[in-house]
Amino acid sequence: MKVTEHITKAQGSTLFSFEILPPLKGETVQHIYNTIDTLIDYNPAFIDVTYHREEYVFLERENGLLEKKVVRKRPGTVGICAAIQNKYKVDAVPHILCGGFDQEDTENFLIDLDFLGIDNVLALRGDAIKSEIYFKSERNGHQYANELVTQIKGLNKGTYLDDYLENNNPTNFCVGVAAYPEKHMEAASLRQDIVYLKQKIDAGADYIVTQMFFNNEAYFDFVDKCRAAGITVPIIPGLKPIATKGQLSMIPHRFKVDLPDDLVMEVLKCKDNKEVKQVGVEWCIAQCRELKAKGVPVLHFYSMGKSENIKTIVNEVL
Ligand code: FAD
Repeated sequence: MKVTEHITKAQGSTLFSFEILPPLKGETVQHIYNTIDTLIDYNPAFIDVTYHREEYVFLERENGLLEKKVVRKRPGTVGICAAIQNKYKVDAVPHILCGGFDQEDTENFLIDLDFLGIDNVLALRGDAIKSEIYFKSERNGHQYANELVTQIKGLNKGTYLDDYLENNNPTNFCVGVAAYPEKHMEAASLRQDIVYLKQKIDAGADYIVTQMFFNNEAYFDFVDKCRAAGITVPIIPGLKPIATKGQLSMIPHRFKVDLPDDLVMEVLKCKDNKEVKQVGVEWCIAQCRELKAKGVPVLHFYSMGKSENIKTIVNEVL
């Protein structure tokens, strides 16, 4: 079932969903199942599975020279989505990127998903390859996520890249896109970022999932600005409970979001990460209660491989 159908069916009550990462290459899928097993009793409407593009690693050779190698550390997005739908009968939402894909790769990826009975995708540009500063599309790939949305929605109308096909089976994907209540790091201004977000919606995107935020005002303000800009699709808030002191610097650095002073102070007072986890859970519960009271369609959690804290939160809030 499509994410938007879940939202419609819920008739205004708030749903629960979460995001997982495929395991590192060489690890078993059991770790993913453990995360899902912890949360499955809370009836997630859907589970997102991230996509991780290739990276460069440099291997030192015997002659002292470095060999550049292209590796993918977390393959398996499509396989995990199929396994989730099969094992748990919950809709999986694979993330699909512009980065590392040309249009042909994208089309073939979508055909695989269609054959597997996967109805949803989250369409993203992706970041620059690690070790490079600026994002570069593949030759014949997409530079921005709105172009990717256009291709997916084109396939939904039976528009394939090959125009000699005898059959043009239309796919039927529900397409989500990303948004940033505190602005995407490359955007010149929040206003301009919303202009580009609107392009993704005009290309046919059905719903939005936000970057994590720790101050609900940022989300409410962002939603108001989106509505004023004519964006009417559901805007799903993304949430992440803080769990370690190290995240005070990692989260702003990696996700370009601010942490409120009150939260930072509380975390700094903690003696160990057990206490930090408690603070993170309490903060997130307060966020969720307010978001739910304001009628958000879904509370979407970034699990990052940790599910016990999300279980505690969902248990309190839903
Ligand atoms: P876009 O919407 O293309 O925007 C990128 C930048 O370009 C923005 O600054 C925007 O303002 C600007 N822009 C957009 N359109 C135009 C245009 N037409 N002309 C000029 N400028 C434009 N990354 C992964 O690698 N794998 C994942 O699984 C993943 N999942 C994510 C899930 C969520 C919910 C979120 C919020 C992010 C996720 N990311 C993931 C990170 C994401 O790929 C990066 O944040 C990336 O830098 C931007 O992706 P986007 O789809 O928002 O890009």
